Amino acid sequence: MPAKVFWGSPRQTQLEERETLPAKLDLIIEQLNLRERVKDKRVAIKMHLGFNTGYSMVHPVFVRKVVQAIKDGGGHPFVTDNPSAVETAHMRGYTAETLGCALHPAAGLDDKWFYTQPHQFMNVSEFQIGGAIKEADFMVDLAHVKGHPCTSYGAAIKNIGIGCMTGTTRGQMHDVSHFAPYVFKDKIRDEAHRLAIRESCPYGAIVDDRSDPGGLHLHHYKCNNCLRCQAVADGAFEIQREAFMAFLKVMNVGAKLVLDTFAPGNTTFISLATQMTPLCDCFGFTGMAVLPDAGIFGSDDPVAIDHAVIDMTAQTPLIEANLPGMMEIVTREGHPWQWIHGPYKDPYEQLSHAEQIGMGNCGYELVDVLPFTEPDFKQDTYVQAVRS
Ligand code: SF4
Repeated sequence: MPAKVFWGSPRQTQLEERETLPAKLDLIIEQLNLRERVKDKRVAIKMHLGFNTGYSMVHPVFVRKVVQAIKDGGGHPFVTDNPSAVETAHMRGYTAETLGCALHPAAGLDDKWFYTQPHQFMNVSEFQIGGAIKEADFMVDLAHVKGHPCTSYGAAIKNIGIGCMTGTTRGQMHDVSHFAPYVFKDKIRDEAHRLAIRESCPYGAIVDDRSDPGGLHLHHYKCNNCLRCQAVADGAFEIQREAFMAFLKVMNVGAKLVLDTFAPGNTTFISLATQMTPLCDCFGFTGMAVLPDAGIFGSDDPVAIDHAVIDMTAQTPLIEANLPGMMEIVTREGHPWQWIHGPYKDPYEQLSHAEQIGMGNCGYELVDVLPFTEPDFKQDTYVQAVRS
């Protein structure tokens, strides 16, 4: 049976508060029965609190509503993220006073309070899940939707699949893209050939390998799969789709392990698709939005909610005038996030994999919590505007 995804459109028929996104969040909270599900439970609200001067994350106005609903239901909420983001959260407006509840680092002040979950995925043999996540009874995954150079986008799954892990595990998860060999030194003809490969990338994604003199290293997050380097590599350096998809898949694996620490029915997901910048909130600054606001989503199914977000944002035009000068459109196939971050970072394949490993359903029913209605200008009393 398709999962329900509740959706609040960013469009308003009337310019009234009851039609704004915070008001639609109230309707989504009701549909999710959040108050009824959290009595006497310790509730982790997993967010991305950003870094430095970023200001496009989920605004405290929305967080407060989630916090208040949990309190109204007799739950005990706290907001959580990685230690650095929590330590500096006040610089971006997130404090116990503005949010209405405490903020705790997911794995403690030193990132050393974690629960080890053995699981083999390529180079990763165990996942260190934050102790605050493990000790919570219920989790609200409150995500900001945005672009991401490693995964093309970040939303509900990424917020927990990477965001609930210690820094050690996050580093190992990023390294899955280096698991399969992609540099073949026996095919590098000479130093001039090696340098030609390195210099062929206009984004500086190919660098010297610090641990292997005479080799090369690819920064996957900088690579948009333009394939310029393939024209000079002659098989000595390969841009492999599987290497990029490996990171999207390990993110799914991490999210599944996190969700498995909760009893069935004790997780829910809310995603805000506004101010969608090309890069993640973790970059510590906010650029111009490159997709129009798509509203607010809520569901008990992490796969369905991310799929709904991806489907909705695929229908809207990329705001090309807002792209930073160094970012080019390398393809117009797939999702707009793939256009700018690379076709090998495929959200549809990632969500299909998430469904395969039992995280949820790609199929969903979208329920608009307050449908937009076209104003009726054809009533009998209507008078034609003089200047129309
Ligand atoms: S595919 Fe393009 S972006 Fe990626 S390393 Fe090669 S030249 Fe650089």
